[in-house]
Amino acid sequence: MPEATVATRASEATSGRTVQQVDVAVVGAGFAGLYLLHRLRKAGFATVVLDEANDVGGTWYWNRYPGARCDIQTVDYSYTFDPELESAWTWSEKYATQPEILRYLGFVADRYDLRRDIRFGTRVKEATWDEAAERWLLATDNGANVSCRFYIMATGCLSAPKPPEIAGVGDFRGEVYFTGRWPHQEVNLVGKRVAVIGTGSSGIQAIPLIAEQAAHLTVFQRTPNFALPAHNGPAPSDRVAMLEGNRAGYREQARWSLAGVPWPQQTAVSWQLSDAERRERFEKAWATGDLVCILTQLWADQGVDVDGNALVAQLIREKIRAIVTDPETAAALSPYDHPFGAKRPCLDTNYYATYNRPNVTLVNLRQEPIKAITAFGITTSKRSFDLDVIVFATGFDAMTGAIMAVHPITGRGGKPLSSVWAEGPQTYLGLTVAGFPNLFMITGPGSPSVLSNMIVSIEQHADWVVDRLTAMREAGFTTIEATERAQAGWAQHMADCSTLTLHRLANTWYTGANVPGKAQGVMPYTGGVGPYRAICNEVASRGLLGFKLTGPNVPEQCNDGEIVRLQPDVRLVLNMLADMKLPEIESLGAAGARAFVTMFNAGRPAGRPVGEVVDGTLPGTDGPLRYRLYRPATAGPHPIVVYFHGGGWVLGDEQSDEPFCRDMCRRSGMIFVSVGYRHAPEHRFPTAAEDGYAATRWVAEHAAELGGTPGPVLVAGWSAGANIAAVTCQLARDRGGPPIAGQLLLCPVTDATFDRRSYIDNATGYFLTRPLMYWFWDLYCSPADRTDPRVSPLRGKLEGLPPAFVVTCEFDPLRDEGVAYAEALRVAGVPVEQLKARGHIHTSFTMVDVVITGVAGRARMADALRRFAGLPQDMGKREGAGSDRNASPPEAIAAAE
Ligand code: NAP
Repeated sequence: MPEATVATRASEATSGRTVQQVDVAVVGAGFAGLYLLHRLRKAGFATVVLDEANDVGGTWYWNRYPGARCDIQTVDYSYTFDPELESAWTWSEKYATQPEILRYLGFVADRYDLRRDIRFGTRVKEATWDEAAERWLLATDNGANVSCRFYIMATGCLSAPKPPEIAGVGDFRGEVYFTGRWPHQEVNLVGKRVAVIGTGSSGIQAIPLIAEQAAHLTVFQRTPNFALPAHNGPAPSDRVAMLEGNRAGYREQARWSLAGVPWPQQTAVSWQLSDAERRERFEKAWATGDLVCILTQLWADQGVDVDGNALVAQLIREKIRAIVTDPETAAALSPYDHPFGAKRPCLDTNYYATYNRPNVTLVNLRQEPIKAITAFGITTSKRSFDLDVIVFATGFDAMTGAIMAVHPITGRGGKPLSSVWAEGPQTYLGLTVAGFPNLFMITGPGSPSVLSNMIVSIEQHADWVVDRLTAMREAGFTTIEATERAQAGWAQHMADCSTLTLHRLANTWYTGANVPGKAQGVMPYTGGVGPYRAICNEVASRGLLGFKLTGPNVPEQCNDGEIVRLQPDVRLVLNMLADMKLPEIESLGAAGARAFVTMFNAGRPAGRPVGEVVDGTLPGTDGPLRYRLYRPATAGPHPIVVYFHGGGWVLGDEQSDEPFCRDMCRRSGMIFVSVGYRHAPEHRFPTAAEDGYAATRWVAEHAAELGGTPGPVLVAGWSAGANIAAVTCQLARDRGGPPIAGQLLLCPVTDATFDRRSYIDNATGYFLTRPLMYWFWDLYCSPADRTDPRVSPLRGKLEGLPPAFVVTCEFDPLRDEGVAYAEALRVAGVPVEQLKARGHIHTSFTMVDVVITGVAGRARMADALRRFAGLPQDMGKREGAGSDRNASPPEAIAAAE
């Protein structure tokens, strides 16, 4: 093992108290602290680990209650940094017990001789950044204080028990236990009247075993939770075979997965599966006895869409009813107040069946809240329970509690962390906090942490931190600090991610809702372990983006910026496309490009059902044009939207934007008629424009035949299709009709000018590229024609046009010409609304069911169409099915500027 660069040594501080001088101080000797110590030592940093407990183990040291086990399979819930360690230890069960996990951590501590640098029984009380010395001073309650260059909180996410906040807690004369601080000596519950308050993971694990001992067990439940059978036993042979077949590959797959456990990503969404198929998948997952499996393997929309999620919840409630014999108890145990997975689900052994025992009573606190704990028991609003023992399984001040337990943590300028976090935790990557140089958190708020296999996340964080410290030392830097801008960008990205999943829809410890008075907000990073790892790697590879580094003999380095400005799902799509190394469309020729688009579209979700889809033809200027009509499921007649697909006047057809048309038909409650206008290069300018106008006229004249409302139609389009829609409005005004009630322009082409900022900034890398746009323009329109308003509507007269809703996307070359058109319409007196979609690209809103963050924008588009048609606003929400309820609030899509 290399020598420490700075030997651990003691020195006399001016106060006379001994101060231990180290390079790095780590607080916490659990999974994170032990691995950090091992890595830091190997890297040559003098390190001390401090822990309040009297041995290693962290959460597994304290949580010794009956039934305590891990609920990630132990093949996955293990260190992976050393293959020799992996082969030196064999777990005895699929889910190891707390004593076995504690033995494992003791084994690891011994194997790497870690204990000699751990100060047990030592609590860190305060931490202060000394600006002059550029060191942290940690005040401890036992022995020397610590002076360190780097201070790492490896204090765990669920380690500060939450007070029970029930009146009279101190009055009870019987025995009191907390699951999170269970005594080390044996607790004998035999023959006693026991109460358990709380039905989270801890309560659900403890209740069946307590019921076996107690004379009577009364469970006080405030919120029922979803629990799945663990089916514990030997580690499943298929998982073991997978691991042993290719250990390195298995571990690597876990590192890049969404939850830190290697399961494949599902692509089929719930509405693509039959009832029988869904049930079959569910039964298989139920029998697997694995939380990550059931959370990820049923259907792709279970974690992101309330309707897809409700199907799972329903199937679990069925199971509860089948197990619990008393229907009233079964009903009380059935969760209805939160989506499955939005609150941490539990893994159980005989939990529901325990309520069939004659010595177990469930008290539903929603119907009879606890009034007080008395000297002899618990009194609810309806009755009193005499008790010998109360077990509090009431949970933790999660994510921030253990960090804030060191108080104050005083950073630069004397600022305490408690004031910086008064409105909720602010971090960069969940690893660091602006204003707190050289302070790191392992699995802190803002990182995947509790939404992942903790061991995978711990190793990733510890590796990232130690790698940075090593690189800093080599470069001569002594301080590292996140910038405010990077941190604010991360908060924005966190907020964007949290609109993707359903976690925000439940009051849980994930959001701080379990602690009265705590700031609310989804604290863990919901974007997934693999994407998060990629982001951390990118921060490093882009010159430590968002960090300021200083050192005594080197110039300051600050590469400021935000690491993710794209919406999280857009980023994933772009990364996936980049990995596919697709050809440049413009290199394929028109026929090749069309074949490519057809092939590409074949792989996307087809779109949700609508009332009816009808194909037909309508007379164009020069022969028939195909159209496809999407009719809502509601009773007609409906207003009609004439829709023009995207594709640069060259690609696509009346079916190519099918998912978008279906979605908008459902949301708006209107008929969409998608027109198959003719394309370049076979039919150059102004064919597409004239076809668009002719089609609109014909649809308006035949509205009743099509099942539409007579009167004005609406027009809509995307990209070049939005160009045609805009042009159609101008032609309709100038040629005496048809009347048009409103125009929805999604990423419109409005002007043949290529020097606007967005054409430069977004020239490549965001799907629609500048070279592709050049190619489209060249195929459609000669340079001489490009100022004609029938292709550059921005150059036309804009007065007297129908009201418009103009959507532009931040990372789209066409953004600024769309904004310019909206502004010009406004100046011309046309009522216009703009949606400037932050973090989105040209294809964001038409990638329905792929780019989930596009939902809120489409909901607003549908609202606008309904407004133009004079329909009530709320109907759109009712008809649009569940996704509307999944939509983020309108302000989530804010102006790009
Ligand atoms: P928890 O999930 O927060 O559950 C606490 C329970 O106590 C909830 O049912 C809560 O009801 C109830 N409660 C809290 N205050 C109450 C009050 N004043 N009156 C009545 N009821 C009250 O805590 P936990 O069970 O300790 O689990 C926390 C997390 O630790 C888990 O979600 C899991 O991530 C982890 N954990 C893991 C394992 C494992 O690996 N196997 C085991 C245990 C824990 P409400 O829901 O209404 O607030």
